[in-house]
Amino acid sequence: MIRQAKGKTPRRLPPKKASNSQKDPVGVYCRVRPLGAEDEECCIEVISNTTIQLHAPDGLKANRNGEFKETQYSFKKVFGIKTTQGELFEDVAKPLVEDIIHCKNGLLFTYGVTGSGKTHTMTGSPGQGGLLPRSLDMIFNSIGPYQAKRYVFKPDDKNGMEVQNQVDALLDRQKRDSQTTVPKTPTTRRIDPEFADMISPEEACKADGVDEDSSYSVFVSYIEIYNNYIYDLLEETPIDPIKPKWNVAGTPLRNNTEFIPPQSKILREDQNHNMYVAGCTEVEVKSTEEAFEVFWRGQKKRRIANTQLNRESSRSHSVFIIKLAQAPLDADGDNVLQDKNQVNVSQLCLVDLAGSERTSRTRAEGSRLREAGNINQSLMTLRTCIEVLRENQMCGTNKMVPYRDSKVTHLFKNYFDGEGKVRMVVCVNPKADDYEETLLVMRFAEMTQEVEVARPVDRPICGFAAGRRQRNQAFKEELTRRLEERGGPLDGESPTVLNQLLQSFPPLPPCEISGPNDDVTLPRLIEALEKRHKIRQMMIEEYNKTANMLKSVLQEQDSNLLSKENFIQEQRGKLGEKDKMLQNQKNEIDRLEKKSKMLEYKIDILQKTTNIYEEDKRSLQHELESREQRLQREMSEKRRMEARMQGIVTDSKLKWEKECERRVNAKQLEMQNKLWVKDEKLKQLKAIVTEGKTENRQPQRPSREKDKVPAKRSASPSPVPSPYHASQSSLSSLEPIYNFSQTVRPDPHFLRPGSVSVASCISEWEQGVPQSRRQGSQSPPDRRKRAQGLPDSLSRRRGRCWAREVPVQPAEVDLEETGHWTGPPVRPLHRRSHSAGGERWVDHKPNTNVDLDTVLQPNLPNAIKVNAPSEKALSKCDKYVLTHQEVASDGEIQTKLIKGEVFKTRGGGQAVQFTDIETLKQENPVAASRKRRSSETGPDGEPKEGDWTDVETRCSVAVEMRAGSNLGPGYQHHGYPKRRKP
Ligand code: ADP
Ligand code: MG
Repeated sequence: MIRQAKGKTPRRLPPKKASNSQKDPVGVYCRVRPLGAEDEECCIEVISNTTIQLHAPDGLKANRNGEFKETQYSFKKVFGIKTTQGELFEDVAKPLVEDIIHCKNGLLFTYGVTGSGKTHTMTGSPGQGGLLPRSLDMIFNSIGPYQAKRYVFKPDDKNGMEVQNQVDALLDRQKRDSQTTVPKTPTTRRIDPEFADMISPEEACKADGVDEDSSYSVFVSYIEIYNNYIYDLLEETPIDPIKPKWNVAGTPLRNNTEFIPPQSKILREDQNHNMYVAGCTEVEVKSTEEAFEVFWRGQKKRRIANTQLNRESSRSHSVFIIKLAQAPLDADGDNVLQDKNQVNVSQLCLVDLAGSERTSRTRAEGSRLREAGNINQSLMTLRTCIEVLRENQMCGTNKMVPYRDSKVTHLFKNYFDGEGKVRMVVCVNPKADDYEETLLVMRFAEMTQEVEVARPVDRPICGFAAGRRQRNQAFKEELTRRLEERGGPLDGESPTVLNQLLQSFPPLPPCEISGPNDDVTLPRLIEALEKRHKIRQMMIEEYNKTANMLKSVLQEQDSNLLSKENFIQEQRGKLGEKDKMLQNQKNEIDRLEKKSKMLEYKIDILQKTTNIYEEDKRSLQHELESREQRLQREMSEKRRMEARMQGIVTDSKLKWEKECERRVNAKQLEMQNKLWVKDEKLKQLKAIVTEGKTENRQPQRPSREKDKVPAKRSASPSPVPSPYHASQSSLSSLEPIYNFSQTVRPDPHFLRPGSVSVASCISEWEQGVPQSRRQGSQSPPDRRKRAQGLPDSLSRRRGRCWAREVPVQPAEVDLEETGHWTGPPVRPLHRRSHSAGGERWVDHKPNTNVDLDTVLQPNLPNAIKVNAPSEKALSKCDKYVLTHQEVASDGEIQTKLIKGEVFKTRGGGQAVQFTDIETLKQENPVAASRKRRSSETGPDGEPKEGDWTDVETRCSVAVEMRAGSNLGPGYQHHGYPKRRKP
């Protein structure tokens, strides 16, 4: 609001921001124009009356995959292609016009790409007047009856307004009338047919609450900002009669179409901090037609300038400023109050911005490119200003807004810094070609909505009683009526009424006196005059009475009016309150809508996050389950293993306990035996000492006994629980040993050939067992010789048995002879019969193996011979043997037979549990000479026996028991140390 303060000490007003805390966001509206051609690709869809959706055109989508998504933009209102100019005006411009009438400033601009309908929206097309003509029309419809006479308001050159006195105004009017030939009354004037159909009086709008006690005047200016220069489009260019005019092409221009390049104008700031174009023409207009005609004149001038200067109109901003000056009537309600402080000027700026497209699109070159750059620069500055404003408002920062960087933003600085209502119509062409530009426009528009502008305050009341104009008019009307009733006014302007009145008087008698004695004429005249006087008296009385009556009526009416006025005022106040409430609620709704939109967006994001988390959760749960299952499996496996281990532990414990018990018992027995032998010796000694006669025979026994004792001492302390003893039941004193040995498995450790039990020695000694028999048990070659004489089955068994054979020779003989060996149980795996037949073997012999040219080849009938183990072969067999060869440190080939049992695994495969390793050393064909030497060094030089010895003695690899194997500790197999032949 520009408030006139001229004539008084100019006072700088404090910044308006401080005085008004209420703010409204910039109202951004979106208008979608119809497509140029029906078959054009469309990229915009109106989804509600506040939201549009942009679809990336197919070509773009293909070019840049995923970059362009479908985006929605919301505005205060969206106008679809079917929106009429009237509907748009109703929503967008009408409130601004109402504001200007109520002394509040407004700014309305159209923004968009060239061809999107900015000019169509602002100015309109033939038959479809835009916002500009409609705004003008509404203004004049509203203030029409209250307009001041021309030149009552007169703009000063500082953006202010003066009120001229009646005489000056009248003189100015007369001057104008003499200069122009325009008819006095604009309403009867012929409208230019070029734009006549842009103004449609049938759609006339009218503002409510126009202050009738004020006088109004409308002034318009029209400027163009091109390349950051301001041009006045209404400037009357003085015609220079001397200088010839040339147009740009160099040809002289003819009479009326002279073109003088316009001079650019500068911006100034008035005392209220409003920016104005210094020296800009302001034309006072009294009707819509006149105003639009002025605009049209400017428009034409703009067109000519653009053509002459080869400029593109789409790159310029046009600003049409409607200024409304209003001042209260004086107390009589007759004339405009001559107080300049009471003049209010409000303005509505209608801005048709330049096309917002980028320079590249306009295909500009050279100086045009520079121009285009500037145009873009000014729109860029607008953008930056909006951005900074928004940031300042949202974050409470105080960044400098670069209004001064371009003329457009500088001109409207106070709308954003001060107060006013700002609205923007974003025009969009839905064609796909404009997609990228439209996207930028939408982003700018969305951002602009977030900027808030201080709401203009209501103007103060002037202090006079309201209804002055009406009272004044009513009085005038009444007076005329009465005067007409009475036959004419008093000022004698109407002679017919006066004549009538005069005729109602009695006629005057002839006034000529005939002579000095004429005493008739005078008295008659006196009488007539007296009569007339009386009538006059009566008339005056009547007049006074009527005047009094009229006065009282007027007074009555006045009081009536006053009360009505008061009532109206009251109602108006209430209405104002309601309006405020409504506005507040509207704001609240707006705010809530924004909030809900925000929340919806947040919900959307949260939903997405939740989905992701849920997916994570599901996968984790799945993993957890599988791990739990695995754990469960492992646990059960562990439990099974534990149970098995427990079984094994208890088994072995039991076995060891028994073993220990057995050993203790054996030890005890041995001790007893020793005791007994000593006793016996003592007895014998006693006998030697006492019986001198037997001296010749006795020495032999002690010598035998001496031989025996060391043997006993060197023997293992353990008695031999050999099957041999099973048949030695004749010695009753050894019965316990026999019984014990029956329950204990043969321990190879204790069955070493060199370790004959004491008990057996004693028993032998007692029984007189032949020396050769006893010796036999200690001489392997002898034993082997005997073995060769054994039945075939037995010798074969030995050959295959290799190192595992328990080499207690007598036991074997006895076993064969007696045939009822009830010795300890033997693990089935070790039974020859198993490998001999009945079971199927997988004989795994790698290709690299050297042929075993020995009789000690494992004999595996039915065996499937393979080079590499295959599941197929394994599945058919239940035993597995791997013949593994390696060169030992002494150069001999060491052949290992690694045996195992084939199990079916739960998974359907096969597993081999190795149970046994047998080792055979063989002469390496490569190092044959060395090997031969070693075996030939024997004194008896028997190669076969040497071979046998080698095999027999070198199988010194223990069979490693696996957990769970049912072989007890007593069954641990040990190879025998290689014995050297004496
Ligand atoms: P701009 O000023 O943005 O460059 P114009 O207003 O000149 O665009 O519009 C270009 C053309 O499109 C004009 O011929 C105009 O009549 C037409 N046009 C624009 N908007 C509409 C609309 N809403 N309805 C019908 N025609 C339109
Ligand atoms: Mg345009």
